[in-house]
Amino acid sequence: MNGPDGGAHPAFHIMAKPTGARCNLACAYCFFLKKEHLYPDSNFRMTDEVMEEYIRQTIEGHRVPHVTIAWQGGEPTLMGLEFFRRSVEVQKKYAKPKTHIENTFQTNGILLDDEWCRFFHDNNFLIGLSMDGPGELHDTCRRDRQDRGTFDRVLKAARLLQKHRVEFNILCTVNGINADHPLEVYRFFRDELSVEYIQFIPIVERENATGFQEGDTVTGRSVRPEQWGRFLVAIFDEWIENDVGRMFVLNFDAALAGWLGIAGTACIFAPTCGLGVALEHNGDVYSCDHFVEPDYLLGNILATPLIELVNSEKQRAFGTAKRDTLPRYCRECDFLAICNGECPKNRYVRTPDGEEGLNYLCEGYRIFFSHADRPMRMMADLLRQGRNADEVMPMLAAAKRGREKVPAKVGRNDPCPCGSGLKYKKCCGRMSR
Ligand code: SF4
Ligand code: SF4
Repeated sequence: MNGPDGGAHPAFHIMAKPTGARCNLACAYCFFLKKEHLYPDSNFRMTDEVMEEYIRQTIEGHRVPHVTIAWQGGEPTLMGLEFFRRSVEVQKKYAKPKTHIENTFQTNGILLDDEWCRFFHDNNFLIGLSMDGPGELHDTCRRDRQDRGTFDRVLKAARLLQKHRVEFNILCTVNGINADHPLEVYRFFRDELSVEYIQFIPIVERENATGFQEGDTVTGRSVRPEQWGRFLVAIFDEWIENDVGRMFVLNFDAALAGWLGIAGTACIFAPTCGLGVALEHNGDVYSCDHFVEPDYLLGNILATPLIELVNSEKQRAFGTAKRDTLPRYCRECDFLAICNGECPKNRYVRTPDGEEGLNYLCEGYRIFFSHADRPMRMMADLLRQGRNADEVMPMLAAAKRGREKVPAKVGRNDPCPCGSGLKYKKCCGRMSR
């Protein structure tokens, strides 16, 4: 199969939405709830026929030994556990020898109980649990249909997952309110919830009735660009001082990949899009989870093989547009190789000289990338030498302590006095420039 530029791609990613937009909560900023109008007469339940086609075509379309079956919402637990038991049987039916199949499952946690968690554990599901921080911060936007907060129920779900030793990540959406409490949010996940994997997702919600990517004003719930930058900086400083190698913040790993010259471990920072499509409950395939709207409908897997849809002209054009529509401001940006203009769904503001297509979050990313530049370069150097990124912590601590103590006679090519084994200019010298 071909990728966005026509070259061969051995793998792609599909996010399946077995309940479409349907969810048992009514989170204030959910862009999917508004999309129920796309399928006005639907019961929003994936049939076994669509599920089997999804799994068969995904497994058959991969030429790598690792296949991910991704379940997302809406809220996938609304399908009931038996649907997923059947899906595991279908996976066994189509599994190729020496292929490892992993299931990922994004949930708000409300319906989880011992039986769900036993199933997740026994079948190695990797869970993404949506949580926005400690009690009040979580409850601000994550509310149920009776307008009650959901924190206690989600916390219970997290404890159940831990009790059953289910692997899970936290997906924390960052809105205009919790963004002002970065350390409170981060320390809650680290110290009280005791999780190691976190992803922060900025809420950029455009003011319109459709939930589509249109309009150029954002709601008050959205995170402001500089607020997003400050949020990342505050958590980065805490992480880089104490937690490298023991807490995994996807946003930092994805950015570090850019400093290593391999941007794209997360699609938002990849140069092009196109290899992550969304599968609706009825088999319809859209260009991306963020573009489930009529203009981005590629076809239906019951009529056209998934691999043809992923490889279609239309999808290739969607993928390369990310790179080809970058404004000059991005093309000349010092951080282009790391950021690549971030996600196209957020590109609707004007550059300082008036060109269209700049990312709404640009200012925040510039704040964060500038701030993280030196430590990121140090970690990238360590990794290139086959060393561990966490060695950056004592190096930074030594640099901090010794900033005034370093004798003037230490040359930039001399070994660094902190004992790292690196040249001074590649180590603490960076920090004292
Ligand atoms: S549109 Fe955004 S979310 Fe979708 S693939 Fe591109 S970068 Fe990723
Ligand atoms: S930081 Fe801003 S200017 Fe630079 S590539 Fe990203 S969006 Fe474009």
